[in-house]
Amino acid sequence: MNLCDINTLKPLLKRHGFTFSKGLGQNFLCDESVPVAIAEGAGVDEDTCVIEVGPGVGALTQELLKRADRVTAVELDKRLPALLSETVGGYNNFSLVEGDILKVNLPEICAAFDGRKTVACANLPYYITTPAITALIESRCFESITVMVQREVARRICAKPGTSDYGAFTVYINYHAEASVVCEVDRGCFIPAPNVDSTVVRLDVRKTPPVDCDKKALFKLVKAAFAQRRKTLVNCLSFAYKDKISKSELEDILLSLDLSKNVRGEELSLVKYAELLTKLP
Ligand code: SAM
Repeated sequence: MNLCDINTLKPLLKRHGFTFSKGLGQNFLCDESVPVAIAEGAGVDEDTCVIEVGPGVGALTQELLKRADRVTAVELDKRLPALLSETVGGYNNFSLVEGDILKVNLPEICAAFDGRKTVACANLPYYITTPAITALIESRCFESITVMVQREVARRICAKPGTSDYGAFTVYINYHAEASVVCEVDRGCFIPAPNVDSTVVRLDVRKTPPVDCDKKALFKLVKAAFAQRRKTLVNCLSFAYKDKISKSELEDILLSLDLSKNVRGEELSLVKYAELLTKLP
């Protein structure tokens, strides 16, 4: 069954009385080149186990099932298991977990893969893009995470220091993974078509972070640095660390790191943030 063919998809949805839920971020793929690009971009092969977030009716799931050892999909919409059993239920390497990707116990689910290579793939529901990526990373279950996100989010994920897209989430991603763009996807590849274009990004999760420091303290610093984007780093930090350090002490620290006292948070790389952390009280 070609689930990206509109002439297959529409009657299938109609037969099940299915209507799209905007609240659940339901934009289903209707261009068959996209599931192929995601599965290939994720490097899914017969030795790979996959967790898919939000299978919908199974357009991407089907492509993953053809290539992978096992695919376990996590779907929140209680109307979809009946459709999925019709579309992909015949594959013996498929299992479905009914639940919320932000609440399920991923290490417990992935334990069934017996330590084999495990990756995550998804055409993510846009309303939970950032928390879903964070949950996948923090689970420490995946070698890589290949997800379709809004183009603007992809730009933030892959941004370089000194650009307007660079922010706290960029630093967070860079701490945990190496990000790359797999492909761009036009809004016309979905039904219903969303208001924005998308990009598939791949995150190759690092075994160890590129900087050796206390993670909690590092991200407290990063959060403070980006809290008020129009302000200089000194102003942001002198507010966040007001009980600990004066403005002039902060300026001296920046100078000792070859940074101007007028530098802004978006100009510092992850390595510079880690260096800065070592100088703070
Ligand atoms: N994978 C399908 C495709 O590409 O055609 C559907 C993708 S659609 C953008 C997002 C899917 O995620 C929907 O099936 C939706 O019901 C599901 N979903 C929404 N919120 C979810 C959550 N918190 N946990 C798991 N699945 C969720």
